[in-house]
Amino acid sequence: MECDKCGRDAVMHAGYSGAHLCEEHFRASVEKRVRRRIRRDGLVPQDASPGDPERWVIGLSGGKDSVVLAQILDETFGRDPRIELVALTIHEGIEGYRDESVDACVELAAELDLRHELVSYEEEFGVRMDDVVEDDPEGMAPCAYCGVFRRDLLETYAAEFDADILLTGHNLDDEAQTALMNVLEGDVKQMAKHFDASLGPFDERTDDAGFVPRAKPLRDVPEKEVALYAQLRELPAHITECPHASEAFRGEIQELLLKLEENHPGTRHSIVSGYEELASMAADRYRGESTPEMEACDRCGSQTTGDVCRKCRLLESLAAT
Ligand code: SF4
Repeated sequence: MECDKCGRDAVMHAGYSGAHLCEEHFRASVEKRVRRRIRRDGLVPQDASPGDPERWVIGLSGGKDSVVLAQILDETFGRDPRIELVALTIHEGIEGYRDESVDACVELAAELDLRHELVSYEEEFGVRMDDVVEDDPEGMAPCAYCGVFRRDLLETYAAEFDADILLTGHNLDDEAQTALMNVLEGDVKQMAKHFDASLGPFDERTDDAGFVPRAKPLRDVPEKEVALYAQLRELPAHITECPHASEAFRGEIQELLLKLEENHPGTRHSIVSGYEELASMAADRYRGESTPEMEACDRCGSQTTGDVCRKCRLLESLAAT
């Protein structure tokens, strides 16, 4: 097949748009979608000055998504005096998996001359995910522990680095999966929170509780295209599945969506755009409704609705094994 734009050999065909693109035009198309999303979400500050730049912290795991995000952000804003980029990598303590992806992060950060910070569960909490999986005091899936610990570190360090935005590499498939999961679980409040946390107009997002606002600039780009972009540009991404991956429901939804997309191209785009509209309505419905008061955790001081936050409860439970 030939590229629709220049007639050279196409490297991809997008079923949802019918486009055939060569390498050069495919790369340009991915970059254009990411930059358009940043513009539409109003991330670029109008009033930031070179003397007082906004700080954007990128969650860099070393997987294809975050590596592509860091690369495009660096090429777009690396020399923009209004924005300072910082990459944050979290080491969960997973043998044969995370060491390689941390290497990928270190290599990319060095290539881009990007400030890179590395934190680990072991240093921060005294636990490694490999041991958590062995002990499993709560009888939960590994990702349930890991998600709580990762969220805590991302929030803690984004705040410590005085970040204005925390950017993550969620792609279109991730977002369509989350949307469908929330709908199938009937979790309307979660939809409202999802909108407030990462979908709403940037200046309307709630950060009353002191959380750093989040952004997902890759959320218009399908996972396969992110992977192809990383491969064509030979970016140092580590592409292996975590040995403890355990989100069974998400896996089922992923398969379902792939099948739907094959038979009905464009399904992921329509799910996400319909979801954003519904989530916005849900956010309006719940906004202003009394929510549990956020207080400082008795143990670590992070924001929580009870006396002790979930992370500290899990750590206490692990310490007792
Ligand atoms: Fe943690 Fe689960 Fe991700 Fe593995 S797949 S790194 S256990 S959240």
